[in-house]
Amino acid sequence: MIPLYTDEVGVLAEIFSSFQGEGPLVGRRQVFVRTAGCNLSCSYCDSAKSRREVKFCEVERDPGSGLLLRRNNPVTSSWANEEILGLWASGTHSVSITGGEPLCQPEFAAALARCCAAEGLPVYFETNGFSERRFLRVVDRIDFAAVDVKLPSHRACPPADWLRLVENELGCIKAASRAGAVTIAKVVILESTPIEEIDRLCPRLEGVEATFVLQPASGIGRPSPEKLMLIHQAASEHRGDVLVIPQAHKMMGVL
Ligand code: SF4
Repeated sequence: MIPLYTDEVGVLAEIFSSFQGEGPLVGRRQVFVRTAGCNLSCSYCDSAKSRREVKFCEVERDPGSGLLLRRNNPVTSSWANEEILGLWASGTHSVSITGGEPLCQPEFAAALARCCAAEGLPVYFETNGFSERRFLRVVDRIDFAAVDVKLPSHRACPPADWLRLVENELGCIKAASRAGAVTIAKVVILESTPIEEIDRLCPRLEGVEATFVLQPASGIGRPSPEKLMLIHQAASEHRGDVLVIPQAHKMMGVL
């Protein structure tokens, strides 16, 4: 039999079924495949565990049970595919390939997306968008793209690298939109976020077909209602569809 995809190996942190907690697809049931390792260091990061490479991939085969099965890393994309299919149930909307940062393992991320596409499962791909070139390897296999835009004050990278980072992020957003993926551009807002950074960013997204989401930070640095209103107003001067959506999975207490 001719295989539908090439098997690849990579490092995963978790596979589980839960509800999307961010952005316009909030509340949708998804199978999450969380890659391990990230190249950025955002001040608000809440994925400490998946920022580094981990020894085991943890799988919650019984959704919501908290019972985790461990599999040694690296794992193969065909093994991950079997776990995804085992978790796919009635009411599941899509497979969320997330991180960490999936584009740190571009071949593996592409293989995961290919596996899902071969099974007819819609793919929601979440990335910090650091490399447009790597993103172009997966964009044709995904149905939904959620791309972060980092502001200088997020301290995601050394200041000298920020311009290159944001150009890549904007490139990924435009590439996803051009490819016909439902595209989400997300910016995390902290109390310390300068309005001028939003003023400078938003004109770059004018005319791009993407849902623009301001996500208030949940923990330390959470913005005041007044700050959120001011930031929303500043963004809305450039786009008519600015949404403010908090992280709902933290309220639900799910993974
Ligand atoms: S890109 Fe995401 S995972 Fe990486 S440091 Fe920033 S918030 Fe954390």
